[in-house]
Parts: sequence; C-alpha cells; structure tokens
Amino acid sequence: MTPPPWVFIDLLTQYVGQTVELRGWLYTRRSSGGIHFLLVRDGTGVVQAVINAKEVDAATFDRADHLPQESSLILTGAVRSDKRAPGGVEVTVRALVVLQEADPYPITPKEHGVEFLMDHRHLWLRSPRQHAIMRVRAEVIRAATAYLDAQGFLRVDAPILTPASVEGTTTLFETAYFDLGTAYLTQSGQLYNEAAAMAFGRVYCYGPTFRAEKSKTRRHLTEFWMLEPEVAYLDLDGYMDLAEGFVSAIVQDVLRNRERELALLERDLAPLRGVKPPFPRISYDEALEILKRAGKPMPWGEDFGGDEETVISSHFDRPVFVHHYPAACKAFYMQPDATRPAVVLAADLLAPEGYGEIIGGGQRIHDLALLEHRLAEYGLPRDIYRWYLDLRRYGAVPHSGFGIGIERTVAWICGLDHIREAIPFPRLINRLYP
Ligand code: ATP
Repeated sequence: MTPPPWVFIDLLTQYVGQTVELRGWLYTRRSSGGIHFLLVRDGTGVVQAVINAKEVDAATFDRADHLPQESSLILTGAVRSDKRAPGGVEVTVRALVVLQEADPYPITPKEHGVEFLMDHRHLWLRSPRQHAIMRVRAEVIRAATAYLDAQGFLRVDAPILTPASVEGTTTLFETAYFDLGTAYLTQSGQLYNEAAAMAFGRVYCYGPTFRAEKSKTRRHLTEFWMLEPEVAYLDLDGYMDLAEGFVSAIVQDVLRNRERELALLERDLAPLRGVKPPFPRISYDEALEILKRAGKPMPWGEDFGGDEETVISSHFDRPVFVHHYPAACKAFYMQPDATRPAVVLAADLLAPEGYGEIIGGGQRIHDLALLEHRLAEYGLPRDIYRWYLDLRRYGAVPHSGFGIGIERTVAWICGLDHIREAIPFPRLINRLYP
C-alpha cells in the first residue's frame, strides 16, 4: 500500500516512531531554552510540534520564532509517544514549509464580544469550542438519519422553491420567479413529504427551511435545518412513539461518540443520560394547569411562548410531549379530535432545561371534504393546493409526521445559551454577514 501523502493529527498515534508529513495551521506557539513549541491544528486535532535548534537549519528555526497565529504550514517530523501531550503524541520537527504567513489574527485569547465574534464567524469556526459544537451538530444529523434509515425510511427531499406556503404566506421569503410570478422559500417540506409518504410509506426529508418571522429570540433563526419524517397509517400516539425513540437515539449516540466535545463544552451529562423512552405526555389543558399553578396563567386557545415552554418543561426530567392543542394554534391540515373538534391531534416536544420546543408534529387530515373546508376557513388559495388535495382523492389514509429543528436540538444537547452558535453561518433578522 502506498503511504498517505500526509497524516491527519487524529491518526498520529498509529505512526509513533515514524516520520510523517502534517498539513495544517499554527494555533499557538511558545519558546523556551532554544526550543520552539508550536501547537499545530489540522481540523482533526491539535498536536505539539517541537523545533529544536540542533535539529533544523538556522533559517527554519528563526522563521518558527516569528510565525503569526493561523499561518498555514506543512511540516515533516518524527512522531514520539508522550503521555503528557493532549493526544498522547508529539512531533519532533525536521522540516517546515510555511505556505502563507498570516496577517495578525483578529481572534486572540482575550475575551471578545459576541457581535465581534459573529462578524468574524468565518474565522471563529476555527476555535476549539466551535469545533466541538460543529462535531456535535454533524453527529446529531448522522444519528438522526441513521435511526430512520435503519427503520426502513426512505429519504425523499422536498423542494426549497415553492409556489405556496405550508401555512400561509405571511412569514415567507419571496423571490421573483420568471414568468410564473412569485416563488417562496420553503418553511417546511411537510406537504411534499405527505405526497412522498403516500408513495413510499415511510419517508423523511432533510434540508434548510426559511422563516421571515420577526422573532428576535435565543431560539429563532431565519434559516434553519429541519428533518421531517412522515408516515402513512400512523396516528398521534404512533408519532409520539416514533419521536421519543428517535430523539433518545440521537442523544445517546452523541453521548457515545462525542464525549470529548461535550466535555470541552462543559456540558452536564446527567440530564442527557436520562433522555430515554418513555417521555411524559401531557395535554394542552394539563399544561395550562401547570402554568396556573406556577403563577403564570394563560387563557385557553393561545399558543405557548418560550417562557411558558420553560415553565412546563421544568416539571419534567426529560423531554415532554404536549398534545391536543386548540385548533387555532396549529396549521390548517391538523386532524381534529373526533370527540372534541376544538382540539387537534398535534403534539410538540419540549426539551428540558429551558430549551423549549424542538419538535412540532401531529396527525394530518386525510378526509377530502374536511381538508377543503379547512383551507377555506384559513383563507388559503385552493388552486395552489390542488395536488395536495389529490392525496385525499387517491388512497387517503391516516398519516402523521413531525419536524425536528436541528439547531434547537444541537443548542440543547450542547447546552448553548443561544441558537446562533449551533449553525455554521447563522441567519438572524439582524444578521446576514458573513
Ligand atoms: P416556534 O413556535 O417555537 O417559533 P414553530 O411552532 O413555528 O416554532 P414548527 O413550525 O412546528 O415550529 O417547526 C418545527 C421545528 O422547527 C420546531 O420544533 C423547532 O425545532 C424548529 N424551528 C421552528 N422555527 C424555528 C426557527 N425560527 N429557528 C430555528 N428553529 C426553528
């Protein structure tokens, strides 16, 4: 086998005693007694590279003494086992090539304000804390899709440009679309997901979604990623069974595979370890009772805001489902309860520790006449929903699904104060740069 042209830092322990090439960036550097110690990062990890005056030429030694942070380098050196080193190895440098000597780096070890860091998000992503969050994010997505794939779900992605909204156009971003008028950036793949579920039984879509809501909270982005399973022949209880197994699997996978990252984030693991089925299930009416007892009464018929969600979820040690919402709180397609049509078979999942709603979902209307009636009630243009109504003409079945917001899930699992750190380049109502 030909040896790899260069070695990644997370695999260095396999190369002890050998001379390897590393390609990366300078993280920090210090010198002591005729030796330079460079901490080099390559995206997979950080390793200490030791440059001894006796082992390199004078020009290399001198250059290493002046290298600014984030300079790009290729170095060759011998890998030595060293128990005190972070990854268990150190590299004794034999040769050093500097690809680019960086300008003075704006992000220094001193404290920076969050707006400054957000303005430099393209560089901030290089820091250990951001690495940890992005690795947890990737694991959340991997675990989520793996769980559904293993259960026989088919990934069928929904379009992003749509002729109409899922729930009305007030919170949609618009764009001119050739001779066809206005197109909207999707706020959910759900309607298309329903078509896919009638074609394949169990499906999910995963992609970016857009909300032009003027919500300036710690939980709202204008662009976020949502994974949405949709299942034919599934009722409200079946959806909650599916969602609790799904969320538990994601959390347990992150605990198993991203232990180092959670430790770096100083995340308290005890609450995460307890995220296992069954999750408590309370009705909207029961949730109102909790709010009343907590001295935060709310009139029946209104939707919960972040504050109410925090109060409700603080009564439970794991995520809690709130089901049977008033119809007016939810979208037109939610199936009414047969015995009490004022409420619908919808359920949201509230994360513990004050992280609020991470999942919204429920059973969809499968009866054509009822769906037509609802469209009219909500003042939605029937013509645009022709295809959606067709799904109720050709083999309609009860079906349910849900959407999980990836960033809210990541913010919860990582214990972040604000959702903006849970996505590489956040889009907020007051931020479109970088
Ligand atoms: P909220 O009431 O909290 O604004 P929603 O009821 O509009 O949320 P859904 O339409 O049910 O949310 O969307 C499903 C999931 O998508 C939510 O549970 C949440 O995880 C995520 N989500 C919704 N809106 C946003 C947003 N603006 N930013 C980030 N994630 C979001």
